[in-house]
Amino acid sequence: MTATVIVGMLCVHLLCFGAMFWLISRRLQGDGLGMDMFALGNAMLGLAYVLQLLGGAPGWSAQSVLNHTLTLCTPLVYAVGGLRFFGRPAPLLRPLLTLALVYTAAQGLAHWLLGPVARYAMLALGMALMFAAMVWALVRVMRGVGRDLRVEMALFALLIAGLGVLNAIKFVRLLQDGLPALDMTLRFQSVFYIYMSFLATVLAPAMIWLVLRRLTDALRAAAEHDPLTQLLNRRGLLAGLEAHFRSRSAGPARLLLLDIDHFKRINDGHGHKAGDLVLQRAAEALRLALRRGDLCSRTGGEEFVVVCFDASDEGAALLAERLRAVIERHQVELPGAKTALRCTVTIGVSQPFHDAGGFDPAMQEADAALYRGKAAGRNRIEWSLGRGGATEAGTLQPA
Ligand code: GH3
Ligand code: MG
Ligand code: MG
Repeated sequence: MTATVIVGMLCVHLLCFGAMFWLISRRLQGDGLGMDMFALGNAMLGLAYVLQLLGGAPGWSAQSVLNHTLTLCTPLVYAVGGLRFFGRPAPLLRPLLTLALVYTAAQGLAHWLLGPVARYAMLALGMALMFAAMVWALVRVMRGVGRDLRVEMALFALLIAGLGVLNAIKFVRLLQDGLPALDMTLRFQSVFYIYMSFLATVLAPAMIWLVLRRLTDALRAAAEHDPLTQLLNRRGLLAGLEAHFRSRSAGPARLLLLDIDHFKRINDGHGHKAGDLVLQRAAEALRLALRRGDLCSRTGGEEFVVVCFDASDEGAALLAERLRAVIERHQVELPGAKTALRCTVTIGVSQPFHDAGGFDPAMQEADAALYRGKAAGRNRIEWSLGRGGATEAGTLQPA
């Protein structure tokens, strides 16, 4: 009785959360983070348990065969959902139909060749192997694409491993005791279904938590990046600076303000689209020229801000010159145009600053230096007064 009530509750759980996953997947764009697959998996498992409740004693029947096929196919559907959650395209229909057909045929063979127990033992073993494969896949995900969700993936792996172990025990008991091992009044059956019920209760909110994390991460990334160049925007730059200065051992930062020279001419001469392309290519070139850990942002039209950390005067001068030279060398091929576009930048360098509050004064210093650089002929590096004098294009002259 207890196990039957638990199976009933399990059905309700699976179907309700399945409906919720489906609603969530409809709200999400693209492949819905695999939520539609989790909805399908829940619906299939829920239906399998409904069939179990409606069916009588264990034995050969169309209901029972369908129940086993549905049960065995659900891990595959969840696995496809997991892959899609991590942005990996994974086909569903063909592998699912193949598995369903092969397993249905295997059930017939097992039953007629080895007897009714073999069919149930085959399901328990099949599920144990499926769950073992899922645990293996989750461990791989933890080390790869799901590194940011290590804790969640470890929890999933642990819980699914438990389910694998229970199925392996069921398999052994079936071999030892035959069909009586499936008696719903047995303690093992109660433990089995209580664990299933516990899993359905824990895993479903955990899935919703994963989706929430992905969505909030995506929202934050969108709020902190410039959509045209994918560089940080001002908000992202400030967040990066604050994160840097939160560390006890944080060294000083220095700000480089880069402004593309005569950018208006590019827009006027070649069109706004060409201007956008130049901005994107310049952003890419800057990103590649920077050290890991330094910050690069687009804070306005054709203005970029680079923040370098722990840079000596020499280091900052070398970096500024590298960035200037990279842009000067860079060629942007326009679609349909014979000659490539080139541009230059003028760079204003601030004095070092030691906390996030130093950002605004550093911007003003760099801006004043930049202004002088423009007045002095462009394509050059100008240092904030008090730190160094003007430098001719391509020459290094830190304070
Ligand atoms: P200077 O050498 O003095 O910096 O001259 P400039 O022409 O680069 O400077 P100005 O500030 O006069 O022009 C900047 C231009 O950048 C004007 C604006 O139309 C253009 N701009 C701003 N944002 C974008 C953008 O997102 N895409 C494109 N294509 N152009 C933009
Ligand atoms: Mg400009
Ligand atoms: Mg400008």
